Amino acid sequence: MEIEKKDIRALSKDELRAFFVSNGDKAFRGNQVYEWLWTKGAHSFEDMTNLSKATRMVLETNFVINHIKVDTMQRSEDGTVKNAVRLHDGLVVESVLIPTETRTTACVSSQVGCSLDCNFCATARLKRMRNLEPAEIYDQVIAIDKESRLYYNHPLSNIVFMGMGEPLMNYNNVLKAIEMITSPEGLGMSPKRIMVSTSGIPKMIKKLADDEVKFKLAVSLHSAIDSVRAKIMPFSANFPLKELREALEYWYRKTKSKISYEYVVWKGINDDKASIDALVKFCKYVPCKVNLIEYNPIDDGEFQQASEEAIAAYIIALQAIGVVVKVRRSRGKDIDAACGQLANKDA
Ligand code: SF4
Repeated sequence: MEIEKKDIRALSKDELRAFFVSNGDKAFRGNQVYEWLWTKGAHSFEDMTNLSKATRMVLETNFVINHIKVDTMQRSEDGTVKNAVRLHDGLVVESVLIPTETRTTACVSSQVGCSLDCNFCATARLKRMRNLEPAEIYDQVIAIDKESRLYYNHPLSNIVFMGMGEPLMNYNNVLKAIEMITSPEGLGMSPKRIMVSTSGIPKMIKKLADDEVKFKLAVSLHSAIDSVRAKIMPFSANFPLKELREALEYWYRKTKSKISYEYVVWKGINDDKASIDALVKFCKYVPCKVNLIEYNPIDDGEFQQASEEAIAAYIIALQAIGVVVKVRRSRGKDIDAACGQLANKDA
């Protein structure tokens, strides 16, 4: 019976060094292989040209490299690029490159499907199939970095974990991927340029603070009224806003890093005065900014973009208490790459 080979990128540098020592080779060989895998992005052992044939054979016998493959790449009229990324087991996730005049941002996925059930989100209609491995997250970033260089002549400047999945439900792998992205052996990107966006799981937010992460945190808030939020994101009934608030206060005490609230205003759902007042109150608890995100309906159901007047009312109320508000116009709508639209339609 053939033994299933392990993905070599699941090994740390120390584990690779130990592997070579246990095979009668030098520990240093582990460093060389690690560099090939992460710094040079080798997709096969054959590529590792400074290793002897015998060493490459040993690797081939024991391991595989489960790299991703960009199956299809679509470019939107506004320059947004969407990759459908095939994983080694045939599953597909999507990641997006969003260009602005001054920078390029990668929006990456952390799970295949999603564990949660936000009613406005296309990804929620796919059940969660599995968590992505650290290397699979890293590869999405590398693929987008290449596209950024190719189409926009500069390296990727920012990363947001706002693609498919709830990143904090794949906590260890997301943190490992970020470790590689920020490490000098990986992309060497500053953690300040990375934002992890969560639907707001209090226990995990506290864990991030305890782990002293250096990246930024965004919370998909969408309502500061429990009953309304539970209609938008049913799982949030398990995490009352009071608990979320405590976790965010804890985060800020430990990290001194402002929170970004992601907030969509929907017609007839949260476009009323009570919703605005509740958000204003919530924003006073922890230093924060608010991103009002334009919504892309995924069907003709109850979630439809609110009027410009409703959005203006939010802006006025938040600015009155000194909160920075940005309106995020959706990008890549024509290729279903906009917020909440990632759903492997073409897979
Ligand atoms: S919005 Fe995010 S957390 Fe909610 S279902 Fe969609 S992918 Fe999951």
